[in-house]
Amino acid sequence: MRCPFCGADDTKVIDSRLAGEGDQVRRRRECTECSERFTTFERAELVMPRVIKRDGSREPFSEDKLRTGLLRALEKRPVSIEAVDAAIDRITRRVRAGGERELPGRRIGEWVMDELRQLDQVAYVRFASVYRSFEDVNAFREEIDRLQGGGDAPAVTGTPGRSRR
Ligand SMILES: [Zn+2]
Repeated sequence: MRCPFCGADDTKVIDSRLAGEGDQVRRRRECTECSERFTTFERAELVMPRVIKRDGSREPFSEDKLRTGLLRALEKRPVSIEAVDAAIDRITRRVRAGGERELPGRRIGEWVMDELRQLDQVAYVRFASVYRSFEDVNAFREEIDRLQGGGDAPAVTGTPGRSRR
């Protein structure tokens, strides 16, 4: 594999281990010319289903898009990138596991919410508010109420159930 630093043709593998819960191989490589090191990830290429959008159009499933959505919801929240990667792995596996050729985007959105609910409640509410706003305002309001323990004046900021002073 070509060195991304100097462009030399030959790099050698100096370490190789399983990553991403065992479905990836992570390799440390070193350039034989400039001695720079870098990491590559290898995984089986499997056909992912296409995603059916709200308007009925289809698009390829994009892990990048999934990551962008998660990271936007998690902005400035105390969640490690490892935890985010693990969540993305689980969602991606669910997308693949159905073995379907097409999948409603809404279902993926629900899986994202499952993960965010575990990771960080604030991020979960952020994502849910954007994701559900168009079709399901009431469900969102109920969710906020539930998170706040049934209060009638929901405030979307702050971490429910934890007092800060
Ligand atoms: Zn090099």
